[in-house]
Amino acid sequence: MPSIADNLAQILQGLRPETRLVAVTKTKPTNLLTEAYEAGARLFGENKVQEMVAKYEELPKDIEWHMIGHLQTNKVKYMAPFVSLVHSVDSFKLLKEINKEAKKNDRVIDCILQIYIAKEETKFGLSEEEALEIITSAELAALTNVRIVGLMGMASNTDDPDVVRAEFRGLKNTFESFKTYENGQVMMRELSMGMSGDYLIAQEEGSTLVRVGSAIFGSR
Ligand SMILES: *Cc1c(COP(=O)(O)O)cnc(C)c1O
Repeated sequence: MPSIADNLAQILQGLRPETRLVAVTKTKPTNLLTEAYEAGARLFGENKVQEMVAKYEELPKDIEWHMIGHLQTNKVKYMAPFVSLVHSVDSFKLLKEINKEAKKNDRVIDCILQIYIAKEETKFGLSEEEALEIITSAELAALTNVRIVGLMGMASNTDDPDVVRAEFRGLKNTFESFKTYENGQVMMRELSMGMSGDYLIAQEEGSTLVRVGSAIFGSR
């Protein structure tokens, strides 16, 4: 069986330097995270706040912790001292809460808006219109402790690569069109798309951050 280091090396071989790899470590014990760390991984993605906090406390402090899962506002305070990027902002209310907790910690937290791109029913994510409302909102300027640095999307769970590619391409188009609204607080710098099954397609369609779990750590 290939090791975590083997898997990381194999994935990195297929990625361009401008496509960064977020190792999705959710549900995995810290000894496996340490193995990935020792193989050079520094960007770790988690989808539950408590789990991320526990692992943050245990592991080296040069790890960048990325929140990739749906967030409840009452949990934001626990990760605000250290989280480096939140990929899953899906409401203005959540953005306000992140701002409030970032301010208490005297930090600016980088946030990515999660856009709903899959055809299937999913619970989370903004429509393109809702995302546009947030980035053009007059209220946003008051949120001095958050920045919006890009967009995230998850493609449909399908074996049809054409469907996946079309969804990623649509998100890339939205990302490009939102560059019109860039200012000190809004910048379209990160396009977070691609998981174990579709990260190469995502890279071809312009992803800057791929979020890969099972291809590194095995199935969950
Ligand atoms: C779990 C998860 C991933 C990684 O999924 P794999 O298929 O294991 O690579 C990526 N993004 C999000 C938002 C996730 O929840």
